[in-house]
Amino acid sequence: MEACWFFRAAKIIHSTFLQINFHKKSRDLRTGFPAPFFIAFLQHQISSTMSLLVIGSVAFDAIETPFGKTDKIIGGAATYISMAASYFADRINLVSVVGGDFPVADINRMENMGVNTKGLQIKDGEKSFFWSGRYHNDMNSRDTLVTELNVLGYFDPVIPEEYQNCDYLMLGNLSPDVQLKVMERIHNRPKLVAMDTMNFWMDVALDDLKKAMKKVDVLIINDEEARQLSGEYSLVKASRVIRDMGPRYLIIKKGEHGALLFYEENVYFAPALPLEDVFDPTGAGDTFAGGFVGYLASQDRVDFEHMKRGVIFGSAMASFCVEKFGTERLQDLQMDEILHRINAFIDLTQVDISLTS
Ligand code: AMP
Repeated sequence: MEACWFFRAAKIIHSTFLQINFHKKSRDLRTGFPAPFFIAFLQHQISSTMSLLVIGSVAFDAIETPFGKTDKIIGGAATYISMAASYFADRINLVSVVGGDFPVADINRMENMGVNTKGLQIKDGEKSFFWSGRYHNDMNSRDTLVTELNVLGYFDPVIPEEYQNCDYLMLGNLSPDVQLKVMERIHNRPKLVAMDTMNFWMDVALDDLKKAMKKVDVLIINDEEARQLSGEYSLVKASRVIRDMGPRYLIIKKGEHGALLFYEENVYFAPALPLEDVFDPTGAGDTFAGGFVGYLASQDRVDFEHMKRGVIFGSAMASFCVEKFGTERLQDLQMDEILHRINAFIDLTQVDISLTS
């Protein structure tokens, strides 16, 4: 009899937790979690009224992997960042540019995911940024086949009035000159400025990149880029050189080998989730950044402990991104899938060692 009451009470508490809205759009939550209370707790923890301003490319991509090839599909750094962050942060404001060739349906899809596209300029009669890449068999390295800047080549970012006073700013991958202009055109400094870049900009715009780096709190790059930027092979030495250039926090992504977070004398490492199949790694880095900064905005906390958790949220989102071509997998994730995966990361990183017994 007592056991029966206990289970009934547990069921009521469980379903009450499940009804807590994780997100303003009340994404569909299914039951049957292996750790429902833990997941409900996580869910309860993530809600935000903070605004996140995202800039970066919105693009067409053509991708070749050992699994197949796509024609032009939608991609771009800001697309992946915004989609990933939309699961955590409530107010996402996008600043970017596309040509008249960019499908309205895809802009509407972003709007439906909670991304405000008022700051997305549409240049009629012009062509959108186009990038094409081919992955090697290991899926960890790729060759860029084409980079056509098109409208991105002369992009002059306009920050709509309603985007001013943003709390968090994510400068996604595009010209450092544009990243600088955005920082100049925002009236008040956000609580956190995070920035992504790539070797392309190190090759063609290093001076502007260094100027932009002086103004940011977090830089997110991959291991190859960290080596190029610092001239150091050791990532620990590279992290010191790069942090001397401006950012207090540095995240170095190592593809399927996880990510490192450096802050003062601290280093934190998060593995990547071992997946059976990696279908297309395009956008994984941007998705990581979106999950990371989206999580921080949802918590409205900027310290090393929250950055560590942000790295886990970013890694979890990136692990979804690679499961399908382009942005497809990010478009209709369910909250319970995300939280299950974060749970998997927690399991993956936990170790019980006692040095005294
Ligand atoms: P990732 O795989 O995370 O490095 O990001 C791939 C995305 O970055 C693709 O969707 C491309 O459209 C975009 N991209 C590639 N090169 C550039 C560039 N030079 N500037 C801005 N975005 C780029």
